[in-house]
Amino acid sequence: ATVGVLRERAPGECRVALTPETCRKFVAAGVRVRVEEGAGEAAAFTDDAYREAGAEVGDAARVHDADVLLCVQAPDAATLSSLREGAAIVGLLAPQSDDARAQAIGERRLHAFPLERLPRTTRAQSMDVLSSQAGMAGYKAVLEAAQRAPRFFPMLTTAAGTIRPSKVLVVGAGVAGLQAIATAKRLGAQVEGFDVRPETREQIESLGGRFLDLGVSAAGEGGYARALTDDERAEQQRRLGEHLKSVDVVVCTAAVPGRPAPRIITAAMVAGMKPGSVVVDLAAETGGNCELTRPGETTQSNGVVVAGPLNLASRGAVHASEMYARNLFNFASLFLVDGQVAFNWDDELLAKTVWPERSPAAA
Ligand code: NAD
Repeated sequence: ATVGVLRERAPGECRVALTPETCRKFVAAGVRVRVEEGAGEAAAFTDDAYREAGAEVGDAARVHDADVLLCVQAPDAATLSSLREGAAIVGLLAPQSDDARAQAIGERRLHAFPLERLPRTTRAQSMDVLSSQAGMAGYKAVLEAAQRAPRFFPMLTTAAGTIRPSKVLVVGAGVAGLQAIATAKRLGAQVEGFDVRPETREQIESLGGRFLDLGVSAAGEGGYARALTDDERAEQQRRLGEHLKSVDVVVCTAAVPGRPAPRIITAAMVAGMKPGSVVVDLAAETGGNCELTRPGETTQSNGVVVAGPLNLASRGAVHASEMYARNLFNFASLFLVDGQVAFNWDDELLAKTVWPERSPAAA
């Protein structure tokens, strides 16, 4: 079989779905690899590095003919339509978000594996792109906050007197939030975090953060959070609004799967914050945790900066790609057997990830 990788064409996307490292692994597994010229350039992987790793580097048309296409974001409908019929395509495909793409996937009878759909079981951990990319995003969100803050993060004792450490609050302590807590801690800030899943208390504390108890607990199914009731939300908001008056930096990461980001920080809460405070809203991608967030923009309100950066993982393209590419190699290994494509639909990781869903009979 042949695995192909195109240059990502989405604006601002610097990651790549194959690195020279994983290219070697595919080749060792008996698979041919074709890479479009410049595919790794924005992530600092050169065409020569792919050639040395055993890939054929050439133009896009050569890649369209591959049996398996690996990507970060989905190619456009025209590209999907030019793929080999029945080819597999793996990546963050978001198939429902674009009718033309969904149609092209159907028409070419592609085996589309949107990795957003991968079940988050123990066996799937090494393939979990949401987790690996959230780690980079949480890290970069804190750096963005530190960059925009008019303060030091650490406590300093200097000849010009003592500087108090910044108080950083991380909202949501999933994968991104925990990495944000760890990063803010390494920079010397006083860090607090909160989440509606009670088990996060221990995780926050083990990173040296303080758990901010807002009196709401909402564990949902599959280890995720559920949406809050109106009463729970009101209580959370009252306590949070009070607390935010003493915080210098807020990093928002709260999400509920398949739903818009929960609105946690209201405009009134931001108005109550000290001038010079910074809110970085990682949830901007799904609408934002803060009412004032404008996805992709940075605004100011009463001296408080509110940033809604998009695709932060792409800003750490080298390591984000390394993790992403390993995730994809591990996933593709489920259906690349002795160098050939062979789907075992009894494997729930394949059966539950493929889109459109397979009915048991069709499988
Ligand atoms: P996510 O991106 O969906 O959500 C981020 C966080 O926001 C979650 O911790 C959630 O509880 C929190 N949140 C939601 N509503 C909130 C609210 N109103 N207020 C405060 N916080 C709120 O989640 P994620 O980071 O992708 O994963 C969540 C958890 O699932 C992780 O902590 C992880 O332990 C677990 N997980 C398990 C596996 C696995 O076992 N294979 C893989 C990935 C994640």
